[in-house]
Amino acid sequence: MSAVTDIACEKCGGSLYLDRESAMEVASRGFRGGRVFCVAGCTSVWLMRPSPPMAVPPPDGRAKYERRVCTVSCRVCERHYQTRGTKPGRCKACRTEARRTRDRRRSARDGAHVGAGVDGSA
Ligand SMILES: [Zn+2]
Ligand SMILES: [Zn+2]
Repeated sequence: MSAVTDIACEKCGGSLYLDRESAMEVASRGFRGGRVFCVAGCTSVWLMRPSPPMAVPPPDGRAKYERRVCTVSCRVCERHYQTRGTKPGRCKACRTEARRTRDRRRSARDGAHVGAGVDGSA
């Protein structure tokens, strides 16, 4: 059977029907549409439209956020560096240096227990 379209006939204003076989043929070529014909038989036209491209889901907000890189100045050495965070802080070199200093302090205090990640007494 045929399906009625939302188009009206140019000549008589009647409903146009879509030929399903032609629609399938058109769809197999990657188009939308098909042969439409007037219910009164006064017209018959081919409608072919490119199929709408597949909707690509946008990347989720987090991925987009992670790709945004800001340039901020280090609060320790004032050197500019790139960060993905929002708050200005220390550059990588200063962070590494700070961690090293902390580890040195901890190793001096705790002796062998370096890098255990647990502070305070057991
Ligand atoms: Zn017609
Ligand atoms: Zn720095």
